[in-house]
Amino acid sequence: PIHFPPDPNGSDRKPDFVLVVIEDQTEQRRSERMRADFVANASHELRTPLAALSGFIETLQGPAREDPVARERFLGIMGAQAGRMKRLIDDLLSLSRIEMKAHVLPDTIVDLAELAGQTVDMLAPLAAETGVTVRFERPSAEMPVLGDRDELIQVLSNLIENAIKYGASGKSVEVAARTDGDGYLVAVTDHGPGIAEEHLPRLTERFYRADIQSSREKQGTGLGLAIVKHILTRHRGRLGVSSRIGQGSVFTIRMPSARSVSLKP
Ligand code: ADP
Repeated sequence: PIHFPPDPNGSDRKPDFVLVVIEDQTEQRRSERMRADFVANASHELRTPLAALSGFIETLQGPAREDPVARERFLGIMGAQAGRMKRLIDDLLSLSRIEMKAHVLPDTIVDLAELAGQTVDMLAPLAAETGVTVRFERPSAEMPVLGDRDELIQVLSNLIENAIKYGASGKSVEVAARTDGDGYLVAVTDHGPGIAEEHLPRLTERFYRADIQSSREKQGTGLGLAIVKHILTRHRGRLGVSSRIGQGSVFTIRMPSARSVSLKP
């Protein structure tokens, strides 16, 4: 029953209507908790290299002061830790920039196949350094999609970079761009260690790593696929993954054609 507060004017007339606000707080609570977790994780990730840096500074000021060999070695480690902090901050900034634009649909036509080719060329030095051959299967026609050039290059480079980093050295990575129904797809295939099935649904969560040790070794931030997912959502695109332990993984992005999107209101 709804109990009405006493009328301050002393009248016993019932109000004409009552506004009852029912709010589902479950979703709101969930997103607050996720935000809190994210801040805690990000702080922890930044703290680790910072603690290492502070430790080495102390050592350089004290015991290693007069030891040129130790100095060189420690400075090298400090440079690597500073690099790790920079990568993390760059990825955090990318995520926040993309989140701010989440509801703005991109309206420029770009050729997804050309962007894939450009990204493969851009990553040639990393591939050479890692001992991986990247093959690009170029489609015969253009693949026009509505998109932000830089963001789509970031999607493609995160996927191809992962394939190069995690795919075993000496093996190949294939990037194939082709039509897919009324849209287009780009598939990135590697022949690395693969990813166990239980990890697949969680790969796009921030800071989720299937293999923590290997992510650290490969200088991963754990944010690459979260960035991919956010950018694709804004572009009405989708990310797919299939993988087999010991055989490798295929990451696929699917995007609607610019023609089919502009026909729909
Ligand atoms: P990271 O910066 O750690 O690479 P990502 O978000 O890009 O983070 O990827 C999340 C996790 O997914 C990685 O830590 C890794 O365990 C796994 N992963 C991503 N791509 C591949 C791949 N091609 N082969 C094997 N594991 C992969």
